Amino acid sequence: MSQLQQKAVFIDRDGVLNEMVYDEDHGIMDSPRRPEQVVMMAGAGEFVRAVRELGFLAVVATNQPGIAKNTLTPENLAAVNERLAELMRAEGGQWDALKFCPHHPDGGYNPRREYVMKCECRKPRPGMLLEAAMEMNIALDRSWMIGDGLTDIQAGHAAGCRTILMTQLKIGQVERFFHTDGREPDYICRDLAGALSIIKKESP
Ligand SMILES: [Mg+2]
Ligand SMILES: [Zn+2]
Repeated sequence: MSQLQQKAVFIDRDGVLNEMVYDEDHGIMDSPRRPEQVVMMAGAGEFVRAVRELGFLAVVATNQPGIAKNTLTPENLAAVNERLAELMRAEGGQWDALKFCPHHPDGGYNPRREYVMKCECRKPRPGMLLEAAMEMNIALDRSWMIGDGLTDIQAGHAAGCRTILMTQLKIGQVERFFHTDGREPDYICRDLAGALSIIKKESP
């Protein structure tokens, strides 16, 4: 059984594969809502191509609470994902699966009611990783989670994966947040090239 199991790199989407977008209406950095806003992070397609060549499945796991908050339609999310996939394919990188959580616990000011819930899939919960592991027969203890948020690290740890925090901040700026709830990443990198060298070096 264990020989047949696959291993995966679970990858957060926003801030890892695509740039965040400045939302003028709310004055915050947010997920792209339209395909023309999608800007791929440097080397994202190359990263996915490389991890697949190393024998990992590439599984994107992204929180998209804009659906519950009614700031993003499911159709626009699909169009954004397709645009990102197209940009990544141009570098030879095609993910094996993409999981998204459309939920939010309160839904904000203008909720889309059917998505307002405390779900098992919204990171820091590990539901998306566990579901992919069931569907694709993934050995979580041989797998990685990479993200730019501490909730990515918590989800990865809760699923039993090793974790990489991708951040431009100095370690001292983030480490004070590490000390509770499984937030301390196993590794820290500045960019996807750094993440790839960690995965290459530290995978058995
Ligand atoms: Mg992110
Ligand atoms: Zn969810």
